[in-house]
Amino acid sequence: MYWNREIETAGRNEIEKLQLDRLNRAIEGASKTSYYGKIFRENGVNASGIKSIKELSLLPFTTKNDLRLSYPDGMVAVARGEIVRMHASSGTTGKPTVIFYTARDISEWADLVARCMTATGTTRDDVFQNMMSYGLFTGGLGLHYGAERLGAMVIPSATGNSLRQIQLIQDFRTSVIHITPSYSLHLVEVIEQNGINPCDLGIKKAYLGAEPYSEETRTKIENQWGLDAYNSYGLSEMNGPGVAFECENKDGMHVWEDFYIPEIINPDTGETLPDGEEGELVLTHINREAMPIIRYRTRDLTRIIPEPCGCGRTHRRIERIKGRTDDMLIVGGVNVFPSQIESVLMKFPEVGNNYQIVLDRQNNLDRINIKVELYSKMFHGELKELKALNQRLVEELRALIVVNPRIELLEPGSLPPSTGKAVRVIDNRKI
Ligand code: AMP
Ligand code: ZN
Repeated sequence: MYWNREIETAGRNEIEKLQLDRLNRAIEGASKTSYYGKIFRENGVNASGIKSIKELSLLPFTTKNDLRLSYPDGMVAVARGEIVRMHASSGTTGKPTVIFYTARDISEWADLVARCMTATGTTRDDVFQNMMSYGLFTGGLGLHYGAERLGAMVIPSATGNSLRQIQLIQDFRTSVIHITPSYSLHLVEVIEQNGINPCDLGIKKAYLGAEPYSEETRTKIENQWGLDAYNSYGLSEMNGPGVAFECENKDGMHVWEDFYIPEIINPDTGETLPDGEEGELVLTHINREAMPIIRYRTRDLTRIIPEPCGCGRTHRRIERIKGRTDDMLIVGGVNVFPSQIESVLMKFPEVGNNYQIVLDRQNNLDRINIKVELYSKMFHGELKELKALNQRLVEELRALIVVNPRIELLEPGSLPPSTGKAVRVIDNRKI
């Protein structure tokens, strides 16, 4: 099922022709902003002078810091009267980064999100419960407008208030949910505590995104609810959700190439890498009037899947995000991604729905402590049983991440629950 078959299945030449056209328009728009105007002059970039998509790699990168430096409106390309909305990133340090949209930008974004939802088989007959934060964060309103464009019935339940979420699901027969993986894990726990089997609620699909999670967590969530879970990727700098989304094949996320030009670069050298190689995702927004952003360094690590997708869509896919360049932990000199730890934990049925990684340094030695909640149904409180589980976890983790972790097994509900983006890592090292 396609939302716009012509665009979604366009040939490579056609896509590149459209991209070149839109890229030149984006550069033209960007050169009107105070930020890019200056950068382009310094780098000798000629507005509308790009002759081929390959020349994109000659343009300078844009970083989150550049957005901060041009706060609040140094990257705005239209008159104030044209802007109808702003959002801001959830970044926890420093000034937020702010994104602006014209009425056309909002409408195009809604179309894009409707396309994503259609690619997973959702229709106007579905009831869509949007359990993402509404507000400056793009996850709530982004999916909301897309679902309305599709014609589904939207329940804007937002995050938290789990008992009310359950009530809404039951009373309105919700069929599709949008939720962070960490909140889903918590909500299932509340549902079970209330004597309900989540599978009996009849939810068919979940869109999981906004934070990194492993394939094992997807499988766990699918089994908990008895549904199909689709990976949803986006970032506020590129609108928000809708940048890349899984189709019914659930095998990597299609990046919508009529809106974005994806590149993979070596994060250390900035050099562009061929399709298939892993590196940092760089995105250029080529379909936003209010705020064109050129070669944005997402810090997210992934690779482009070169093979065509079985669904017939021609827009290239990216693999599940492995982590962020700035999330990578260096523990005792060894590189560790939180996602690697998660993939081991979630393989154990005894492990519950929440965990936390705490890093400490004692006598100049790094220590990695992993606090793991147990799953209530598997938890009998026998010391022997716990010791054995602890040992198995340590062994499996050591085999994968080399460093020797300390595991602390906790009763269900001991760690602070997450309703939005989870905080998984606490680094107490003073480096
Ligand atoms: P924000 O701009 O606050 O919405 O944050 C965007 C960031 O959230 C991205 O750059 C990713 O690091 C992360 N993110 C969003 N969706 C996913 C996803 N499906 N998988 C992994 N990370 C994600
Ligand atoms: Zn596909």
